[in-house]
Amino acid sequence: MRRLLMILAGLAAAFSAFAQDEDRQADSLRYRFGRQTVQSSNKKGTPYADTLDTGNPAVKVVLYNNGTYRYVKDPSMVVEDSVFTAFWDTKTVNPYREEPKDIPDRFSIWVVDSLDSYCCPNQVKPRSLYGYRHGRRHQGIDLPYPTGTPVPATFDGKVRISEYVGGYGNLVVIRHANGLETFYGHLSRRDVKAGDWVNAGDIIGLGGSTGRSTGPHLHFETRYYGAAFDPQWLIDFETGTLRHRLLKVRSWYFNPNQRYVQNVDDEDEIFRTDEEDRLAAEEQAKKEAAARAAAEAAAMRYHTVRSGDTLSSIARKYHTSVRELCRLNGIKESSILRIGQRLRVR
Ligand SMILES: [Zn+2]
Repeated sequence: MRRLLMILAGLAAAFSAFAQDEDRQADSLRYRFGRQTVQSSNKKGTPYADTLDTGNPAVKVVLYNNGTYRYVKDPSMVVEDSVFTAFWDTKTVNPYREEPKDIPDRFSIWVVDSLDSYCCPNQVKPRSLYGYRHGRRHQGIDLPYPTGTPVPATFDGKVRISEYVGGYGNLVVIRHANGLETFYGHLSRRDVKAGDWVNAGDIIGLGGSTGRSTGPHLHFETRYYGAAFDPQWLIDFETGTLRHRLLKVRSWYFNPNQRYVQNVDDEDEIFRTDEEDRLAAEEQAKKEAAARAAAEAAAMRYHTVRSGDTLSSIARKYHTSVRELCRLNGIKESSILRIGQRLRVR
């Protein structure tokens, strides 16, 4: 009971903080859930005392020993699409046969949902950035990471690779429901195996210097269907926050030398493209509705009642039933037919 009260009080506090935040936003920009930053959950390895069921079987409340709690998804119950079966390979670093060719100019990825399942790999100034380095492509970012430091999963997902892989050393790759994959390289120890479901913040191994590495650090990559992009588009490592719940992606992010750039005009651009996207979606819905109506109209057939016709003779002629004829024409089985009356038969 005390636990329940604690949770209710926590929820009330969280809600009022949310409402205040919303007010502040309304003063400047219109409130946009997708553009909000997300704080790291910082639950790295915190032992938990208990879990409670919620009304939703895919969501549990986890109570930590230090009196805090959080909502946790059971990712295996949330996911039902093919992301976790198609191009699923527990050995090959990039199982997608080729880099995606027809990446749209811009599109969006929901990075986390309302359960805030995000944990920063390490809140620190990155040591080595994304892009070419001494003529060699660097597909991720290097974060200072003392050997033996626990490495958390950044988001909920399923472990695809847990192997020793050449230059990566001990490598863990996690695939997430939105098609993103996160890579954790040079680990001194791996604590998960391929196929394991993990929540953001779960410890997947320990930092180290295995593979092609000149000192302890975490090599962290983000890929979308096999294509690497600078993780800084997603995460502000110095503050530890996820920049946005909804990542707006441009095709040029996948250029191997394209580092994150902070664009002050970005917000305006995003508002504008949001509006374009909305109008395009409306236009598309209208087109589809019109096409459906046309197809329906094309499928309609009529019969003009002649002398001697009955509902059952018409039904026989068109291989349908009296009941269906009545439904299509809004008449009763006992209705009297008039000669010359048009009846819809299909
Ligand atoms: Zn690296």
